Amino acid sequence: MPDKANEERSEKRKQTIEEVRREQARREKGYRERALKLFPWVCARCGREFSGKNLRLLTVHHKDHNHDNNPPDGSNWELLCVYCHDNEHSRYLDAEWSDGPTPGGEKKPASTYKAFAGLDALLKDKKE
Ligand SMILES: [Zn+2]
Ligand SMILES: [Zn+2]
Repeated sequence: MPDKANEERSEKRKQTIEEVRREQARREKGYRERALKLFPWVCARCGREFSGKNLRLLTVHHKDHNHDNNPPDGSNWELLCVYCHDNEHSRYLDAEWSDGPTPGGEKKPASTYKAFAGLDALLKDKKE
């Protein structure tokens, strides 16, 4: 197998991963903005209030842990501060909440990440 082909393949793979990440970030930004318009900026667990600079600590939790379930009325969303959000998820031991895939860490996000499920299939396909 010439090196050139290998290089091209891994380059392609990198691009695919990049695309999925971008798409994911775009989607996340979309529903976070919508959720922030719908709900008061208060953590639903600890009641902390957020504004301005610390607003980034307020995150959108999906009640059914499915990132793809984003009804426009916000019925699947809950605003949680990062601490409560962390807590919420450690109770369920899934990884819906994360800053994104950890490099090399391969801690598989829950199957709710449809985008990544698709990527898996795609990568498998390319394997020798
Ligand atoms: Zn909180
Ligand atoms: Zn969550």
